[in-house]
Amino acid sequence: MIKNFQNNKFNFSNAYIHIKRNKEAILIDTAASGEKIINYCIDHDIKIKYVLLTHNHLDHVIDLDKIIAKFNPIIYINQNDFLGLFDPKINRSFFANLDWKLKNKDNIISFAANSKQKINLLGINIKIIPVSGHTAGSTFYLFDNQDIFIGDTLFLKGIGMHQKELKVDLKKFMRSIKFIYHLAKENDYLIYPGHYQSGFRIKDIDLNLNSELKEILR
Ligand SMILES: [Zn+2]
Repeated sequence: MIKNFQNNKFNFSNAYIHIKRNKEAILIDTAASGEKIINYCIDHDIKIKYVLLTHNHLDHVIDLDKIIAKFNPIIYINQNDFLGLFDPKINRSFFANLDWKLKNKDNIISFAANSKQKINLLGINIKIIPVSGHTAGSTFYLFDNQDIFIGDTLFLKGIGMHQKELKVDLKKFMRSIKFIYHLAKENDYLIYPGHYQSGFRIKDIDLNLNSELKEILR
């Protein structure tokens, strides 16, 4: 079961927990929903064993310290986004006057920046798919070949932020959008983005309501 937590502090950013029947869970991003997530887990006796981060931007990783303090999980992040956890300028919290950084480096697995790999966590087959662009270490996580968590790339009615000041590699970013579009279309994956509506398929996208995507695909 996948449970979504959305927080409008930062443009409806999404965190997700994938919960197994034995109540062990994997958290994908934290998205400023730390307290809500913790309270939900306490109420339902759920233990977060792993955290997978799609990228290092503030609106996806803030509250990670609260999750660590409560569950002490193992955290996965792309090697290229690792340093951003400890640098407010890289994770953008500096520009939001928050100066957020993680205090300890324990239990963090920073995986290879550019090669796909398969891992198995809690009996779930997870494919780690790095797709730099939005950040140098932006990464997709495909669960059991059906659910894909894609951070800030494709949304139902738009695409991730890609302004110059975010230091987005535009060429790679556009490539990552095309990549997820075709990959998810071919396989009919259920898509869990970093913001806005969650759990949609490519066939649910109306290109007339997603002009940015329409432009990229033309
Ligand atoms: Zn972002």
